[in-house]
Amino acid sequence: MSDPFNGLRELYQEVIFDHNRNPRNFKALDCATHSADGHNPLCGDQLTVYVCMSDEGVVEDLSFIGHGCAISKASASLMTEACKGKTRAEVEALFGNVHAMLTTEHPDCDLGKLEVLSGVKEFPARVKCASLAWHTLHNAINQSEEVAKTE
Ligand code: ZN
Repeated sequence: MSDPFNGLRELYQEVIFDHNRNPRNFKALDCATHSADGHNPLCGDQLTVYVCMSDEGVVEDLSFIGHGCAISKASASLMTEACKGKTRAEVEALFGNVHAMLTTEHPDCDLGKLEVLSGVKEFPARVKCASLAWHTLHNAINQSEEVAKTE
């Protein structure tokens, strides 16, 4: 008998469970200089990312609110930890590498804790859940008026 959840058990590793249950930086930010909304209609994930950026273009603080599946929340939570203190250019480079990790076999750098998300590669629908927060952050720091959509 095949078990359709077998792969998902591996995917939902302890780190993802932890970040889903206790998402880091899960709040709106009063100091926000940038924000954007993201929506993944395929799964129903919906979030808003807030960024406090310094005049020098450094992400001094970032956060998110919203609702969605465990993967989307865990990815957003991990993202807020990974991007705090980085410059806009560093965040964009990380976004590119995370996207590569989620969609190809060979990311070109060590992504540390973010690598727990690499399992979603096996589940194309989940890639959109995991990348939603990153697309939304990208839009936020580029001051895009558009709602980030994975479709
Ligand atoms: Zn989702």
